[in-house]
Formats: sequence, structure tokens, C-alpha cells
Amino acid sequence: MDIAALTADTGTETGRHTIDARVMAAMEQVPRHKFVPPEEEQNAYENRPLPIGYGQTISQPYIIALMTDLMMVKPTDVVLEVGTGSGYQAAILASLARAVYTIEIIEPLGRQAQERLQRLAYKQVETRVGDGYYGWEAHAPYDAIIVTAAASHVPPPLMRQLKPGGRMVIPVGAQFLTQYLLLIEKSDDGTVSTKQILPVRFVPLVAH
Ligand code: SAH
Repeated sequence: MDIAALTADTGTETGRHTIDARVMAAMEQVPRHKFVPPEEEQNAYENRPLPIGYGQTISQPYIIALMTDLMMVKPTDVVLEVGTGSGYQAAILASLARAVYTIEIIEPLGRQAQERLQRLAYKQVETRVGDGYYGWEAHAPYDAIIVTAAASHVPPPLMRQLKPGGRMVIPVGAQFLTQYLLLIEKSDDGTVSTKQILPVRFVPLVAH
């Protein structure tokens, strides 16, 4: 997987020509093969999405690197992820942030991810089974929020739980139509700006 080359190729479109060195280091350190089912282990380092069971997929490494980069996570940050899936993205974020809270709606996936993250000693990650549309109020506000399933609109509870000065990365669009990866920035005075980064294809954020 050549994340650097893909990033350079899409830089004009995404506005990110290189991926931050800390993000690249996290991508190199987190063992992706430990987050996929045994039959997919041999494919873990290819630049493509992989099935993780229950009809869900883990994104291709390039998209994970790009989304993480757009979040601009600092070591003191508290971040929220909606859509734990395998726990891989949470592990990447754990290498960059002070605390990671992640929510998964499919119970067995959420439990597996929790066990896996504990086994691999990603201690800054806390998982929960539930509907991430509503965020995780107890630990809000967040410096950064990532949604790893496509929503039809930006969930207002997530917008509220984003700190002034914070950033949200979220794919928005209908399931079989074009979805766009959005970067939403909330300024210190609370004004919100949205940038379309790239057309993408994610599994849907399921409704409650
Ligand atoms: N970030 C994951 C990939 C997740 S795929 C990883 O690194 O492996 C998207 C995940 O979002 C799926 O597991 C899906 O079950 C979950 N999801 C969909 N709708 C959700 C919702 N409303 N709340 C929480 N999780 C949701």
C-alpha cells in the first residue's frame, strides 16, 4: 500500500498533499492483520476495503490515513468515533490522542472490538454498544469526531458535541448514490464551515 503516492495523486482534490508524519507512524505501527478475520489476514496490507463480518467493512488504508490526517489530532485531544467495526481506526486514533471513545451499533462487533483493543493494550480506547447518531454525551465535547459510516445528514447531536475549534470528518450521502467525505470545522466562535473532500463509498449509518 502506497499511501504517500495516493495522497500526492489526490492532493489537488483533497487539499492534503502529504499525510502528517505522526499519522504515517501510527499506520505503520498498528498491526492491521490483527483486526481482520483470519481468512483476510493475507490481504490486510493491500490498499482495499476488507469484510469484517455482519456485512460491514474496514476502509482501505489510504482512506483511513486521509480521514485521520484531516482530524489533525493532537496528543492532548479527546476524540469520538462512530462505527467501531473492527477497532482498527480506534487503534490508529489511540496512537495519536489522549482518549478515544468509540460507539458501535452491532453488539457482537462492538464486543469483539473491545476484547481485541484490550488484548492489544490500547488502553486509551473506551468502547460502547449503542447508536452513535446521538454521540456519547458523557465525555463531550470532543476535539475531533470521526464517523465511519455514511449518514444522510450530519447528526445534530454530533455537531453539538464538537468543541469550538474542533473538526469532524464524516461521509454524507445516500447508500447507493455518491457520498462525499466532509470536513466540518467549528471555529472558536461556533461558526461552522464545511469542505467536500472526496467522493467515497461507505456502509450506511443505520438509523435507530
Ligand atoms: N471504523 C471501523 C470500520 C467501520 S465500518 C474499523 O476501523 O474497522 C462502519 C461501522 O459503523 C459498522 O461496524 C457499522 O455497524 C457501524 N454503524 C452503522 N451505523 C451505526 C450507528 N448508528 N451507530 C454506531 N455504529 C454504527
